[in-house]
Amino acid sequence: MEKQYRTIELGQLWDRILEGIKVDFDPKLFDSILNDSYLDKINGTKLIVVVNSSVAARVLKEKYLDFINSVVRSKTQSDYSVEFVEKSEVTETPVVEEKQQTFFKNSYINPQLNFDNFVVGVCNREASQAALVVAANPGRTFNPLFIYSDSGLGKTHLLQAIGNYIKENNPNRRVLYLPAEDFFDEYVRFVKGDKESEDLVQYFKTSVDVLLIDDIQFFEKRTKTNEKFFTVFSNMIQSGKQVVIASDKSPNELRDMEQRLITRFSAGLTVNIKSLDFETSKQILRTKITMLGLDINNIDNEVIDFYASKFSRSVRNLEGALNRLIFISTMNNAGRITLDVAMEAVKDELDIETEKQTLSEQKIINVVADYYSLPVHQLTGKQRTNQVAMPRHIAMYLIRDLLDVSYTKIGQTFGGKDHSTVMSGVEKVEKQLKTDSSLQKAIEELKDRLK
Ligand code: ADP
Ligand code: MG
Repeated sequence: MEKQYRTIELGQLWDRILEGIKVDFDPKLFDSILNDSYLDKINGTKLIVVVNSSVAARVLKEKYLDFINSVVRSKTQSDYSVEFVEKSEVTETPVVEEKQQTFFKNSYINPQLNFDNFVVGVCNREASQAALVVAANPGRTFNPLFIYSDSGLGKTHLLQAIGNYIKENNPNRRVLYLPAEDFFDEYVRFVKGDKESEDLVQYFKTSVDVLLIDDIQFFEKRTKTNEKFFTVFSNMIQSGKQVVIASDKSPNELRDMEQRLITRFSAGLTVNIKSLDFETSKQILRTKITMLGLDINNIDNEVIDFYASKFSRSVRNLEGALNRLIFISTMNNAGRITLDVAMEAVKDELDIETEKQTLSEQKIINVVADYYSLPVHQLTGKQRTNQVAMPRHIAMYLIRDLLDVSYTKIGQTFGGKDHSTVMSGVEKVEKQLKTDSSLQKAIEELKDRLK
């Protein structure tokens, strides 16, 4: 599988070079001597290219080598030169790599996830800039780069975009995209003793130049894997090889991870992708609509606004809603997509969103009730004693702060209180928080329990 994959990459590289050559080459001669050529392997800085006859090899070498090498340099931005050989001259020397144990055979970078189709807005600008800098200068700027965010906000996309960028511009760097879980699986499956464990460490030394490791939070609590990864990670950083880490928690929140790893993770640059803002959500929708080949003018602006506000929990949600819309409108031959069509298309999903919100409101209420040893019905009830009022306000405050639910909606949850009652409760907590350190502690503890 790996061999095959590498062959595909060589093929893509050579195709790009051939396109460049073709522009300035006699078309008939090109067909005759270059059309079925292929890139067999890369030896150091030499591209070994197989052509269909020894005459073709000679002509290319004697008449066109400088021209072709200049095309190669401009396409790869590297100092490669070409050596043309006829098929029978190719010696089947196995590549060194293949003698060793190879790990992570299923690792794959999806060419569709690149910087061109990553929409940049307020919430992800820093992360995307840091990713670009690292992709353009692997190992030479922020090392490691640590990207964290809630799920569905673009971490994996950025990791893969870095991989694609490096593969395209520095084809000689070997990039490994690796979900942390795969590292763990491989470690458990293959590493039966010290020797295999050393092989795994060695594999990273000899076969990986850029490591993109995803969902690192998976390593929490897995002490042995932690230790092994620490060695691999330190080796890479020490030899100036780029490491990019994605996580759903910041380094400091990775509690069940070895402290020395956390310290090292923070030693480069840490960036956060924040929750989606309205403008970015709309831009993502517009971009995806165009990418799907649809005419944006055929969709009412209100539709975009509506989806951007209802499905902004993650980009994955936005995509899901959009797919529903497209499915329904093609099925029904809807023609112009109006707000009515759009709302109908996501009816069920909207219910689920509302349900999720209700569930998490309920969770906050339960946790607060438990913290103050009150029965839930008292917390949401009408009783106004001090003992109940403050915890009630705190619960409202947390729902507002963590879920961004409207005052009206919160009022409904708390037995039909009106908008202004809820608002003044929340404000009371906000005001007291500024000076009251025991309240600060309580809120911190509650937020912790809610994680
Ligand atoms: P995460 O790894 O943070 O959970 P992903 O990278 O898997 O999130 O993103 C989820 C989906 O949203 C993917 O299909 C991804 O391509 C898309 N996506 C995320 N952010 C953006 C963005 N800024 N522009 C375009 N597509 C995005
Ligand atoms: Mg991901």
